[in-house]
Amino acid sequence: MSVSVFDLFKIGIGPSSSHTVGPMIAARQFACHLQAGPGLAAVQGIAVELFGSLSATGVGHGTDKAVLLGLAGFEPDTIDPDQIDPTIAAIRASQTLNLLGERTVPFIEKEHLLFRRKSLPLHPNGMCFHAFDAQGTEIAQREYYSVGGGFVIDAAGERVLNQVGSAQPGSAGHAQGLPHPFRTGAELLAQCQATGLSPAQLMAANEAHWRSAAEVRRQLLAIWRTMAGAVQRGCASTGHLPGPMRVRRRAAELHRNLKAHPEAALRDPLSMLDWVNLYAMAVNEENAAGGRVVTAPTNGAAGVIPAVLHYYVNFLQGAREGSAANEDGIATFLLTAGAIGIIYKENASLSGAEVGCQGEVGVACSMAAGALAAVMGGTPEQIENAAEIGMEHNLGMTCDPVGGLVQIPCIERNAMGAIKAINAARMALRGDGQHVVSLDKVIKTMMQTGADMKVKYKETSRGGLAVNVVEC
Ligand code: SF4
Repeated sequence: MSVSVFDLFKIGIGPSSSHTVGPMIAARQFACHLQAGPGLAAVQGIAVELFGSLSATGVGHGTDKAVLLGLAGFEPDTIDPDQIDPTIAAIRASQTLNLLGERTVPFIEKEHLLFRRKSLPLHPNGMCFHAFDAQGTEIAQREYYSVGGGFVIDAAGERVLNQVGSAQPGSAGHAQGLPHPFRTGAELLAQCQATGLSPAQLMAANEAHWRSAAEVRRQLLAIWRTMAGAVQRGCASTGHLPGPMRVRRRAAELHRNLKAHPEAALRDPLSMLDWVNLYAMAVNEENAAGGRVVTAPTNGAAGVIPAVLHYYVNFLQGAREGSAANEDGIATFLLTAGAIGIIYKENASLSGAEVGCQGEVGVACSMAAGALAAVMGGTPEQIENAAEIGMEHNLGMTCDPVGGLVQIPCIERNAMGAIKAINAARMALRGDGQHVVSLDKVIKTMMQTGADMKVKYKETSRGGLAVNVVEC
């Protein structure tokens, strides 16, 4: 196990971790490879091929822009979202691209950024980068795959870390010497039973293998603040989302309405659900607009975990904001969610292009359910049960974004995922942790179901709502 909680929760930009964050990391990595290899001075031309799902829905997901920004040296965790449009406009107007900000080469998108319908062998989200010298001879070529959640691998299947000059914490990429290694739900439970530690405490000990406990806490709270910032910006932003459908942003109006009519909450005990919906929609509208969000574990599913965490902080916790008790609860929530996310990453997939939306919103729901059960006092068995319920009732969920945009059904789907997670935690906490379907069994089923799913339902926008709802 070499996945850190900070691999699952990464600060980035919208709208997609697999189609925006991953390609930006891959493109920058290729430029760094050129810098370290033949040298940027030798490069006279660049060409990029996008394959499979990156080709099918890449424009709607911003893959084209992400590749240009990555080649120019930008990183998803540090780029200022307000810089993106002017930078892209300058590249397009000048038909040149400044590699890592050091070497200007011609770049005409129609000729040098090519969308290929077929898929490369390792994963539906494949990319191939080429560099040429003054004679037009290819001097470097690299394949990368964006395998979901902002994770990138190369043609050898090796993980590509966003490491060169990156502010992204990430893992150290090795697991030797981890005090409590686990790959499955059964192993996690066995570790808890053997040590008497909770999943969050096990995770904290494992993270301390890579960085100090104080640094772990600092970074977890930075993740939380970024999530909270996305909710706040989403609640303050009006107008329409990018794209031809002109989807109206709804979070700001809902927020105004909820604040203006507090007495309605007294009449309707379920109005708390309106707030949970609001948190999720605010984040996903921000994501769809290309804003700053946390990949949790993907961008398409970025609203579920912040929504459930806000529900916990605002409605259940009762501790003063910024207090140690408040921060302890937030850290426990994120560490537990991370422990569950690792099991999915190790045994299945976080990629809508590989297994459908069950691998994005389904996984986020499962992580959030287990995390909520943990901070509500659940035992390790109840936490595992909550995570299992959170996935069991998302099995088979397809990915069919209308217009190739991460808007419909994605925004509402996150709200539904958050509500399901809360219910899953509550069901698990009413039991004793004993249950028939284990988390490992449901993850295996999710992966098999994803493999059997027709390609048109896996982030290609060639099936489901994507073909039955006509773009205007
Ligand atoms: S339908 Fe689900 S998997 Fe597909 S883009 Fe939307 S959130 Fe991601």
